[in-house]
Amino acid sequence: MHFFKKKKKAEKSGAFNKVIVFLVSVMIVFTLLFAGLFQTLYSSARNNIIQIQLNQVQSASAKVSFYLDTAINAVTFSRQNIYVQHQKGASKEQLLESIMIMTDTFMSYIQDNIAGIYGYIYGNYLDGHGWIPDESYQPQKRPWYTKAVQNPEKLVYVSPYIDAESGQKCITLSQTLEDDPESVIAFDLALTSLQEKVDSAMEEENVMFAGIFDRERNILIVSSEPDDSSENYQKKQRRFLEEAKNLKGNYAEISYEGQNYLVFVHPLTAGWDYVYVCDSSALFGKLRYIYFFAPFGILVFILVILLILNHIKNGQEQINRLLNLSERDALTGIYNRGTGEAKISERLEQKMPGAFMMLDVDKFKSINDTYGHDTGDKVIIAVARILENASRKEDIVMRLGGDEFVVFLNGVCTQQEADSFTERLFSLIDSAEIPDVSGLSLSVSGGITLYNGKHWTDFSELYQNTDEKIYISKKTAGNYMTF
Ligand code: GH3
Ligand code: MG
Repeated sequence: MHFFKKKKKAEKSGAFNKVIVFLVSVMIVFTLLFAGLFQTLYSSARNNIIQIQLNQVQSASAKVSFYLDTAINAVTFSRQNIYVQHQKGASKEQLLESIMIMTDTFMSYIQDNIAGIYGYIYGNYLDGHGWIPDESYQPQKRPWYTKAVQNPEKLVYVSPYIDAESGQKCITLSQTLEDDPESVIAFDLALTSLQEKVDSAMEEENVMFAGIFDRERNILIVSSEPDDSSENYQKKQRRFLEEAKNLKGNYAEISYEGQNYLVFVHPLTAGWDYVYVCDSSALFGKLRYIYFFAPFGILVFILVILLILNHIKNGQEQINRLLNLSERDALTGIYNRGTGEAKISERLEQKMPGAFMMLDVDKFKSINDTYGHDTGDKVIIAVARILENASRKEDIVMRLGGDEFVVFLNGVCTQQEADSFTERLFSLIDSAEIPDVSGLSLSVSGGITLYNGKHWTDFSELYQNTDEKIYISKKTAGNYMTF
């Protein structure tokens, strides 16, 4: 017993190993079969990730552009305003007042502007903050003036410098006036807000750093170095900025010290560009799992389908079993009265000819009484088997109930054919052997009604006719068939 148990356990684990080997093989086959599909999945997932990053870069750029546009508008709007007023003959004082009002207006948009709007205008230095320079101040020598005069009509900017007074990093935007190439209007822009915007990009996961290029792709501003940056951070930054500077499209994937990075460049206002660098191994790292999870997913899907199909099959078998049970007589397995009657009625409705035969076991009560009810059952079963064996596939054999049976012999409509069947049947019944019982003589009495299919009839009419014939057979002392 003990040995037997052990063997069972070994058999079980052997089967388990076989299942594992099978599943792994299936997965390998899937991976090979669907390699192209997984490759497509991988690259489309990769493109989606890049697209998400591009959108992120775009929205970050939009914020920066909006900020820069406000500063550019400050210059272009004041320039236009002063030109129009000058055309109308405004005095120096009136122009100064306008500049002060415009300074207040634009300062409400850009709070970290330091000096407001100012310029060298029609021979005078005018300052929106009301600052009056001392004698030594020579506006025509200032970089914002000289650069603008060298590039008439163009909006120029002076590279970032630290404002001596406020200690803030600034750039100055400037432009000559429309009607006087010697007059220049200027606007200072502290880079604090811009720095904050660039630094806020770093809050996004996987972003290494961000920055802004000017029109000539000189670095205007870069995100602050993180506290936990490594030694070669600046070296790495220079390498990426160099890469971004020469970039033709909107992004490129580059490798640096065995790591992959994505460098994005997106246009800002005034021909400037936004630079954005992501750690691509972190972005795409998880995609590797597609090669494992996709075949695994397909495998699970197939297993689930197989399980469902199996479930449906079992259900169908169960239904068939139940249907069969409800159609059959529990003791003998031949058709019960309900089914048999329905099947015969179907034939009669179609006027299919046949012989309607009814049989009743002779003296069955005394068999029950003498040998017992169990033996009685065996007799009923034996008769049912004989009827089944004697009849053909197209015949209908049923138990009416008790010791009574009906056989519908399909297509039999002559007495001769019916006789030969009866003869065969009676001889089989006569020689029947009931298991575990000896000395039992078995006989049946019956009646046959032939139906030639030429007129209408139904089950109950045939039943009544034939039942009367059984009565005659019994009266004739049994073991008899009446036509
Ligand atoms: P006759 O020759 O006139 O047919 O007499 P009989 O004794 O066979 O009388 P009848 O056909 O009326 O008797 C049927 C008996 O069959 C009545 C009932 O006790 C018995 N019986 C009915 N169903 C079963 C059954 O499933 N198993 C057994 N063992 N006996 C049954
Ligand atoms: Mg009987």
